[in-house]
Amino acid sequence: MSKPGTAHVASYYAASANPSPERPALQGEVQCDVCVVGAGFTGMSAALHLAEKGHRVVVLEAARIGFGASGRNGGQIVNSYSRDMDVIESRYGSETARALGDMAFEGNRIIRERIARYDIACDLKEGNLFAACNTKQMKGLIEHKALWERFGNDQLELLEGQAYRREIGSERYVGALLDHSGGHLHPLNLVLGQAAALESLGGRIYEQTPVTSIEHGEPVRLHTPEGWVVADRVVLAGNAYMKGLMPQLEGKSMPASTQVVTTEPLDAATAQDILPTDRAVEDCNYLLDYYRLSGDRRLIYGGGVSYGGQDPNSIEGVIRPKLETTFPQLKGVKIDYAWSGTFLLTLNRLPQFGRINANVYYAQGYSGHGVTCSHLAGRLIAEVLDGQSERFDAFAGLPHLPFPGGRTLSVPLTTLGAWYYRVRDALGV
Ligand SMILES: Cc1cc2nc3c(=O)[nH]c(=O)nc-3n(C[C@H](O)[C@H](O)[C@H](O)COP(=O)(O)OP(=O)(O)OC[C@H]3O[C@@H](n4cnc5c(N)ncnc54)[C@H](O)[C@@H]3O)c2cc1C
Repeated sequence: MSKPGTAHVASYYAASANPSPERPALQGEVQCDVCVVGAGFTGMSAALHLAEKGHRVVVLEAARIGFGASGRNGGQIVNSYSRDMDVIESRYGSETARALGDMAFEGNRIIRERIARYDIACDLKEGNLFAACNTKQMKGLIEHKALWERFGNDQLELLEGQAYRREIGSERYVGALLDHSGGHLHPLNLVLGQAAALESLGGRIYEQTPVTSIEHGEPVRLHTPEGWVVADRVVLAGNAYMKGLMPQLEGKSMPASTQVVTTEPLDAATAQDILPTDRAVEDCNYLLDYYRLSGDRRLIYGGGVSYGGQDPNSIEGVIRPKLETTFPQLKGVKIDYAWSGTFLLTLNRLPQFGRINANVYYAQGYSGHGVTCSHLAGRLIAEVLDGQSERFDAFAGLPHLPFPGGRTLSVPLTTLGAWYYRVRDALGV
């Protein structure tokens, strides 16, 4: 029986999750080499990499495994980062761009290694598309392809003009870029599968165990309602759902929520009509729509962002008009599930990696595209804890500025910014 507020959100993913036992809450004292706070992709990737290297790992999760963004996202395996490599290069120099570029496709590979090695059933399917809503966006995709090819992705295919219609049964676009190396999956089943893999290596997971305070030192003590952990090292992986454990960083990121709906299962002909090749799609708008078919042929459609993590009154009211604009043939389709989740934005849209003292590490703020980068983050944290800090430090060295006015004032400012971009998206400028 879950404590109030700790059950998985009532999503399609929770309803179709693979069986997974409820883990106990922590009671009394536990000791370990590394304590990971947060059982999402970041925490579970770090924990699993560390356990594979022989560390004694304990994971503390405030709610349930995959309770946060990792268990409720669009499931789209999108390569690279939320900021383009040319912007990274012009702002932070060619050395940083090269270092980040060399890792831009690694998170994707890690996911596939995990699925294969631990035999995780999570409806993995191949390929994702970036769809251009206007010619300016199409020009951007052509540049995007050249840029990613420079960093080693040779799996890209431009679909100019109506060629995209072989992939998407919608009139909305002027073309698309297909990344054959991307894909999509059931994200909650991926994180649950990694949790089971961790336990098979001796790692321990405590659910419904929020870390309420941290006593820094050597070792570190992490306090929870009914117990505490004494750990040599700590990984903070609570992302947008974590409050108060890193107050010094809170002004430099902002929670934002996005909404997702899932239709009833579609008949084979309708599914074939809207997404004949069964890829994932996101458009190129600043406030983007993203969608794909589930393993049982439902349309999972997301879009909309509200800053500060507040949910709209009616999720279906926000998403249905977008879905029906893209696919008028689905007008009136029954929506079986609607939910919302929170991710963490940074001002430069690049992830925040770093250390507090010498023995507490964190990675967060993937700014909307975190499925692949969170898996990379876990590997880099495991590397730095084993004394190889170069790749972790390529991210940790990125400067992060505070949102003007901190989290409170920046919500209205960013909402204003979002309104501006919504108008730009609508005008195609
Ligand atoms: C609706 C939605 C759709 C998205 N779609 C996509 C997509 O299609 N593709 C893509 O690339 N990215 C997508 N993202 C972003 C992606 O899901 C996230 O970037 C990624 O899952 C972040 O993983 P995480 O492990 O860092 O954080 P989370 O998954 O949020 O996990 C953090 C965990 O930490 C726990 N926690 C917090 N505080 C504490 C504490 N004090 N003590 C113990 N535990 C704590 C939380 O309960 C939570 O389980 C989407 C995000 C959302 C919300």
